[in-house]
Formats: sequence, C-alpha cells, structure tokens
Amino acid sequence: MSNASNAVLRAAAPLDGEALAAVERQFSAFLGQDIQFDVSVDPSLIGGFVALINGKLYDMSASSQLAQIRQNYTDELLRANKQDRHIQLEELSEFSSSLRDRVRNYAYTSKVDNYGTVTSVMDDVVQVEGLHGSHYGELLAFDGDNFGLALDLRENGAGVVMLSGSTEITTGSFVQGTGHVADICVGEALLGRIIDPIGRPLDGKELRGTNFRPVEYPAPSIVDRSPVNRPLETGLLAVDSMIPIGRGQRELIIGDRQTGKTSIALAAMINQHDDNTFCVYCAIGQKGSTIAQVVDTLERAGAMQRTVVVAAAADDRPSLQYLAPYAGCAIAEEFMYQGKDVLIVYDDLSKHAMAYRSMSLLLRRPSGREAYPGDVFYLHSRLLERAAKLSDEKGGGSITALPIVETMAGDISAYIPTNVISITDGQIYLESELFNAGIRPAVNVGLSVSRVGRAAQHSAMKDVSGSLRLDLAQYRDTAIFAQFGADIDDSTTQLLRRGERLTQLLKQRQDDVMTLAQQVAVLVCFEENLLAEIPPKEITQVRAQLLAYLADHCAGTLHTIDATGKLDKNDREMLIAYTKHFLAARQTEAPAPRED
Ligand code: ATP
Ligand code: MG
Repeated sequence: MSNASNAVLRAAAPLDGEALAAVERQFSAFLGQDIQFDVSVDPSLIGGFVALINGKLYDMSASSQLAQIRQNYTDELLRANKQDRHIQLEELSEFSSSLRDRVRNYAYTSKVDNYGTVTSVMDDVVQVEGLHGSHYGELLAFDGDNFGLALDLRENGAGVVMLSGSTEITTGSFVQGTGHVADICVGEALLGRIIDPIGRPLDGKELRGTNFRPVEYPAPSIVDRSPVNRPLETGLLAVDSMIPIGRGQRELIIGDRQTGKTSIALAAMINQHDDNTFCVYCAIGQKGSTIAQVVDTLERAGAMQRTVVVAAAADDRPSLQYLAPYAGCAIAEEFMYQGKDVLIVYDDLSKHAMAYRSMSLLLRRPSGREAYPGDVFYLHSRLLERAAKLSDEKGGGSITALPIVETMAGDISAYIPTNVISITDGQIYLESELFNAGIRPAVNVGLSVSRVGRAAQHSAMKDVSGSLRLDLAQYRDTAIFAQFGADIDDSTTQLLRRGERLTQLLKQRQDDVMTLAQQVAVLVCFEENLLAEIPPKEITQVRAQLLAYLADHCAGTLHTIDATGKLDKNDREMLIAYTKHFLAARQTEAPAPRED
C-alpha cells in the first residue's frame, strides 16, 4: 500500500483516537492506500466530516446536505416565479413540513467531488492544487460563497482569477468546480439598469434575474449570418454621411484621450428610437464619476430605458474588468437571438487589454510585445466576432459593436490599436488637433473608413454624400498651403470657401442628433452651394434655424425622406426652394408661403 500524500480530514467535532483510526481504516480499505489524516475541527460543518484525499473530496457533512435542501427550495421558488405563479400559502406550509420531515429523517449520504486546495494567493490570482477535470474558464466555488475563474490549467492544479473575496482566502482553503462557465442574467428586466459583470445590481435597486446566459458563447456561424444591409444611424452628420455604419457591423472608435470617443458612441445610443433596438454600454476600467456622467446623459436624453449598462470601474478587480465585455455581449446576444437589433459599446478595449495583461502576468504567463500575453488578439477577436447580422431564418436580429480604443500621442500602430483595427470593419479616427481647434466631432476623414457600411446606407444619403470625403480631404490639404499666404487663384479660393463651410456644417454636439431627412437637407444645401454668402462663424446657427424652418414649412417632405429613405427629384427641389425662401426671409425677415 502506498501512502496518501495529501489526506486532510475536517470534522464537525473533535474525534477521539479510536474513531479516527476507524475512519482511516475504512478509507485505506476503500482506496487501497494507506491513509493517515491531518485532522482539523470545523464546527461550520454542523455534523459529520469531509475528507480530502488526492484532490477528491468525500463530503459527509450535514452542512452540504442542508445546503442541497435549501437549493432545492430556492429552485422551486424560482421556477414558480418564472411561471408567474405565486407560491400559495398551502404549498409553502407543505414544503416546510416536508423540510421538517427531511431534517428529522436526516441520514448521512456521502458525496464525492473533484476538489482542490489553495496553495498560494497573490493579489487576485490564486494557485490551486488538485481540482482534476476542471475546464478552461470554469467557475470555481471557494469557501464562504466566493467565486473564481480557472484560466490556467496544469497537470496537477490550476491558476485561478478571483471574482470576489480574495482577501478571505488562505492557503489550504477548499475549492470546488461548478461544472459550468460563468453566466449572467439577461432579458428585458435589465433595461434601464446598471449591473456589474457578474450580474449584481449597482443602482441600489433589486434585480430578479430568471434567464441566464453563459458569458462566453460561440459566435454565429457563417451560414447563420446575412450580409450587412440596413444602416444604423448615429445621428451625427460627419459619421452617417462619410463613415456609415450598418447593423451587424463592428466599427472601431479610436483616438487619444479626451477627443470625444465616448460622445460619438453616446450619440449613436441616443439616436436609437425604434422599439426593436436596444443598447448595451460596457464601461471597462473607467472612473466611477465618468460612468455616472454617461448614465446621466442617457437618462436626460430618454435613452436609458432602452439601455443596459454593464460597469467594471477602474478600482474593480482586473477579473471583473476582463469579464465585463463578454457579459455585455451575452446580454446583447439574448436580444439578438430574439430577433432584435442591439448596439453594444465597449468603452474601452485598451483598458480591457491592460486588465488582462495584469491578470496574465500574475498567472506567470510568458509576456510578448508590450508585455501583453500571446493570446491578446484572440481576447478581442472572439469578442468582436460575436457581433453579427443574423439571417432571416435565424430571426434577423443583429449586434452592432462599437469598440473604443485609446491611443497614446496618436500612435495607431501600437499593439492593441493595430490588433483591433484588423479585426473590425472600419474605424472612426478622432484627432486631438481637430478637437482642440473646436472641430467636434474631431473625425479625421482621411484615416477613417467604413468597409461595409456603404452597402447599407439609405439611397437618399448616398445621393448627396458621394463627394464629401473628397471635398473635405482636398480642403484640408489646400488649407495647409494657403496658410503660407501663397498666391491663390479663383478656383482654389472657391474650394477653400466651400471647405470652410463644410467643416462648420459637420460640427455637431453629441446630444444634438439629426434625423436622416435633416442630414439630407443640410447636404443638399451644401451641394447647391446655397450657404456661400453666410460667414463661416454663423453657419452652425444658420443650420439650426434652417432645420427649424424646414420642420415648420415642409414637414411632409422631411417625413417622406425619413419614411422611404429615398430622395426623389421633387423632394430635392422642394428642399432647395424652401432653403432659398428661408435665406431670402432671413435677409428681409419677410414671411414665406407654407408647403400646403
Ligand atoms: P476619455 O479619453 O476620457 O474617455 P473621450 O475621448 O471619451 O475621453 P469624451 O468624454 O467623449 O471624450 O469627450 C470629452 C469632452 O469633450 C466632454 O466634456 C464632452 O462633453 C466634450 N465633447 C465631446 N464631443 C463633443 C462635441 N461633438 N461637441 C461638443 N463637445 C464635445
Ligand atoms: Mg471616454
């Protein structure tokens, strides 16, 4: 017989020598091994004992049996709740009498599980010995209702990242596998709520989740997808006209700190009015005050009731920050598979990668470029691949993802930016020089691109936005030369004048979103060069007045454009005529005729 190297016995009450010898004899005979226990007393077991031998736990304690009874009771309650059925008083008393019977007739039955013991604790990373047969990403239960994720599996143990309570864990604590990956509550009950990545409400209100989804889930397969063919309007003229986004697309928002990245995502969320579109905002590693500000903006714009906020703030443990986007994605997936459209914002993936880096370094994984671990590309690709437009057979739902990445000093060739650029279907590049010059949103049109959005753009927008990128690029190039005071010919002066006005027209506050028809009206006005006489400084003000005037005088035309997505010749002429009326009236302040 060989000696068991790792045999621990925890008993509810002290054992005398004879009883211990009897237990040891029983186990030795059962396992064909010479077992000698290290004994400790644990009154929390209530009765009986647990034995840990070579990574297996033989549970013969009263506490686990009672826990099982309690679990059955909770399951029953949840089931009744799910069926919207109130538990009747008789049922409750029936249940408590059966509970009494069960406790009275209580008999020890043993339970054998794969267990492990903690060998080291470093920050939020815990090394565990034993735990044979656990899976990658499996949720592990520690003593005292604490949980961790198995992220590093070895022959004789696992590296575990704690999701809660690492300070309560000591060497020698027990760990048990739960057999499933972490999951999160999903469904419409979450709309308007702020939760953390493991589903705990952060807004002080009660949350009763009945549906759950695993946070890690395979992306839809190729046959289940359909091409991106419907637009997702952000309400920002600069984006919708030149860098259009389609439903099911992944469009990166990238730029230095404080360049309006979050604001673009917020505008897009605020602009989703239709009942079938929901938003998920994942805040990763941000200051609590910034998250509160975002929630406040959404609330003021009336968008919060269609939005779920998943937040892991800067002072939350890295494991929660790591989990946040996957949890948000699971919430979005539930809606997508119900046939709804979802807009999900990951704010931001640079901080996500940093959280993953700090976890990986503590797990002693080899570090690669910029000290990130080797699988940091897979970290983001498996997340962003879950954004999709489903085929009609699968319900036709979609997830549109707007990941955000922060660059340092405009360097888009750093590791994380290049990775995410190569995964996504385009990027909106924001520049601090433009932002500081007051050109907001500070979109650098030359470096921004949308690879699939054009196909999804409304034809009305396509008709009027074809040459905008070129106009703007030419203007920015020429403007640099014009600064030197060189001799400028007439056509260049024209180009500069138009460019200046276009730049002003594209300025827009993040909460001042425009409908399709309003954007088309502004662009028609630019195409026809109707604003040539307005000084650039007044353009934004005149634009607002014009839109108010058009809403007043030709609401029918605007409504047709919004409803059909098309701009026919008649509508176009109508817009031009009314714009001319407006400009003339503005000069003379004379009233103009109405459409009808
Ligand atoms: P951070 O790097 O801190 O996350 P960010 O790039 O997400 O910053 P925002 O928080 O969106 O930037 O914006 C920074 C500031 O600029 C905010 O105070 C916001 O109100 C202002 N801002 C952003 N976009 C616009 C805009 N289009 N018009 C006017 N102000 C804007
Ligand atoms: Mg931000």
